[in-house]
Amino acid sequence: MSFVPPGTGWPDDPATPATSVATTPAEVAELAATSPDITELTARQSVCRACPRLVAWREEVADTKRKAYQNETYWGRPIAGWGDDDPKVLIVGLAPAANGGNRTGRIFTGDRSGDWLFASLHRTGLAAQPTSVHAGDGQRLLGTRMVAAVRCAPPANKPTPGERDNCFPWLLKELQFVRPRVIVALGGFAWQAIWPALRAAGHDLPTPRPAFGHGVEVPLGPLTLIGCYHPSQQNTFTGRVTEPMLDAIFTRAASF
Ligand code: SF4
Repeated sequence: MSFVPPGTGWPDDPATPATSVATTPAEVAELAATSPDITELTARQSVCRACPRLVAWREEVADTKRKAYQNETYWGRPIAGWGDDDPKVLIVGLAPAANGGNRTGRIFTGDRSGDWLFASLHRTGLAAQPTSVHAGDGQRLLGTRMVAAVRCAPPANKPTPGERDNCFPWLLKELQFVRPRVIVALGGFAWQAIWPALRAAGHDLPTPRPAFGHGVEVPLGPLTLIGCYHPSQQNTFTGRVTEPMLDAIFTRAASF
C-alpha cells in the first residue's frame, strides 16, 4: 500500500474508513459544500482522489521514498488544513512537499521551509514547539491554522491551474468555517490562490489587486491579508528571507 489507509492509527489522522472519498472535481465541490463542520471537512480533504496526476505522484513518492527516509512509512495522502479550529491567524501555502508533508502527514512538516516557519511561529508565540518533525510529535499551533491551497504534493512543486481549481472548494469551505482575523500568504503563488477564495467568501476586494510583497498588508473589512516571502531554501540561502523578516510578519499577525 503506497499510502496510509484512513483510520489505521496514524497520529491525528482526521479520517476513518467510512469517510466519503471525492474522485472527481464535481465530487470535491459536493463533499466540500455538504461538510457539516471543520472536522468532517478535513477528514474528507485527507482522502480526496480527484486529481489523477497528483494521486499518482503522491503515491509513487510514498512508495519509492527518498533514500534518507527509506525506513519510514509515508503518509501519501492529501494534507488537510491543520491547527486551531477557530484561529485568529490563517497561514496559506501553495502545496505540500513530496518528501515533507507527503511523508509526515502534516502541512509544512518535515522539510527545510517548515523548519524556518515553525521556528519563527514559536518565537512569536504562535506555535508550542520550535520544531515540527512529524504528525504526533506534540507540536500545536496557538490561535493559528495552516492550509495549502493545493493539498497534494505536485511534481516539481508545480500544480497545474486545473489542479488548483479542483482543490478550490476545499479551500473555500475551510475559509468559510474558520473565519480568521488575519491571513498570511506564504509566497506569491499562495497570494494569487487566496484571492478567488476571498472573493467567493464574500469579501470586497480592491481593484487592481495589490502586488504581492513581503509585509504588504491589504485590509479587507474584518480581515487583513499579509504577504510573506516563502521561506524556501532558495530564499533563505540567498538572504532574501531572514529570521527577523519572518518574525516581523508573524509578530504583526499575532498583534491583531
Ligand atoms: S489536489 Fe486537492 S482536489 Fe486534487 S486530489 Fe489533492 S486534495 Fe483532491
